[in-house]
Amino acid sequence: MTPKQKVYWQRYVDYALGVMHLAHWTVRLVDDPPENDDAIASILAEEQVHDAELHLADRFFDKRPDEQRTYIAHELIHLHFWQYMQLSNELCYQLGAQAQMIAIRQLERAMELATDDLARVVRFILDEPSGPTTSNVQLE
Ligand SMILES: [Zn+2]
Repeated sequence: MTPKQKVYWQRYVDYALGVMHLAHWTVRLVDDPPENDDAIASILAEEQVHDAELHLADRFFDKRPDEQRTYIAHELIHLHFWQYMQLSNELCYQLGAQAQMIAIRQLERAMELATDDLARVVRFILDEPSGPTTSNVQLE
């Protein structure tokens, strides 16, 4: 991520937080790509303080604008579900390792599918981004 891309996308994320009723969250765009190599984007939240880190893979910047806003919508929608992750963690803690595997796998899959479905709708309330791509940054 170039400095120019980082500034543009941080502004876009701040704008999207307001539109998506998440203005009480602070989401910081960080330089590190997602931990999972297959992921285009990921978000790590510290729920109690409404603070999160957004990670974007280099491939994100070459996606079409409508895809980019869907990725941003998807990651930010996860913040609406933080209480469910907390519940999952608490259940795992109380019920042990086997329940942990079942609960986490099922809950994360259900939330991922719901988040994907919602992102396909929510993207339409977000302006289409016009941020610097890898190729047009290199031209400057
Ligand atoms: Zn997700």
